[in-house]
Amino acid sequence: MTGREWIEAVFEQVRARNAGEPEFHQAAAEVFDSLRIVVDRHPHYAESGLVERLCEPERQIIFRVPWMDDDGKVHVNRGFRVQFNSALGPYKGGLRFHPSVNLGIVKFLGFEQIFKNSLTGLPIGGGKGGSDFDPKGRTDAEVMRFCQSFMTELHRHVGEYTDVPAGDIGVGAREIGYLFGQYKRLTNSYESGVLTGKGLAWGGSQVRTEATGYGLAYFVDEMARTAHDGLEGRRVVVSGSGNVAVHAIEKMQQLGALVVSCSDSGGYIVDDKGIDLEIVRDIKERRRGRISEYVDAVPSASYVDGGSLWDVPCDVALPCATQNELDEDAAKVLIGNGVRIVAEGANMPATPGAVTAFRQSGVAFGPGKAANAGGVATSALEMQQNASRDSWSFEYTDQRLAKIMVGIHERTIETADEYGMPGDYVHGANIAGFVKVADAMTALGVI
Ligand code: GLU
Repeated sequence: MTGREWIEAVFEQVRARNAGEPEFHQAAAEVFDSLRIVVDRHPHYAESGLVERLCEPERQIIFRVPWMDDDGKVHVNRGFRVQFNSALGPYKGGLRFHPSVNLGIVKFLGFEQIFKNSLTGLPIGGGKGGSDFDPKGRTDAEVMRFCQSFMTELHRHVGEYTDVPAGDIGVGAREIGYLFGQYKRLTNSYESGVLTGKGLAWGGSQVRTEATGYGLAYFVDEMARTAHDGLEGRRVVVSGSGNVAVHAIEKMQQLGALVVSCSDSGGYIVDDKGIDLEIVRDIKERRRGRISEYVDAVPSASYVDGGSLWDVPCDVALPCATQNELDEDAAKVLIGNGVRIVAEGANMPATPGAVTAFRQSGVAFGPGKAANAGGVATSALEMQQNASRDSWSFEYTDQRLAKIMVGIHERTIETADEYGMPGDYVHGANIAGFVKVADAMTALGVI
């Protein structure tokens, strides 16, 4: 069997034994596409069941999360933690609270996290978790009771040297606070390093809140530099208006770009003068309102109910909402409108058809594994500060983040060059992420 035939066989096996998990298949297919190239050149990666082991999580935990709402009604949600790979360090990855969460979603996110975390160059393995709990419309007290119930099971499986969860969609500082409080109470120990994304007063790191969005902008800045282009005055479209989107907009504006559009699940706004971020933050962060309210404050802006924000002409497109939000048709519209750079702030927001369209038409495409790694990288910096009982300044932490993003960009580009695919960020990120984990797994033996 040739290396390529063997890769096909392993992929078929992954699909068959993980039936009904299309997002996991999608994430695996993209990595396997790059693995073919690696195995051609380095056949030893096909040995010792290495790829088969990489595709099978080390441990998967599924548990019941019962909780009581404010009216005394009992709800039952499902909790997940997939501990995918710990060759490079403790499992590390966020928790997502969203009604769409199921095992396949958590596995796709956990699988991506292995390579993303490897690419940061920091000592963190890959994992992910969450629940199909929907925080939308729930009171603080309800969210607290849910988090306490969730942690009552999860606390047995996590720890500073074992598994370190953080936030993701639906999990921010409020939820991390309730989760940490319950962990501390159950274990009778102030183990700061068990969760990241903590508040600044109780073990959190400066820049962690901003990190995914800022890191994305630093990465895009490098992409633009590599393409002998600048961001000054460039029209930028950012999907979403959550934590990643808001901080991406902020940093892109600081880098001189003109961000004209952002969205939520209801629709999108266009403000050709440049989005007023304070208004967006007031609506989304302080009032937990809808993006449509933006036009009340800025009557010259427009709101489109539903529709595709990718119709808005731009030079740079940053999908920062959720998986598969940008499909092939949307990609073709963006390409037709002259987009030059697309980078993923969310995890797997571009469908395989969209990614192919961008790559074929010469648009620089930064995959999430590389472009959005600033969040988890800063989580690793939070872990470093917790381990040394230190806390760094905003400026110093931000510098570390910027340096990490430049390093990720460099590794990605160098690897793409090394494998004869200059400018291909997808192969570059997959291969660079894979090789480091694979070498560590080989060194640690068949475990
Ligand atoms: N959820 C984020 C991600 O997708 C951050 C994870 C973390 O900080 O552990 O990378």
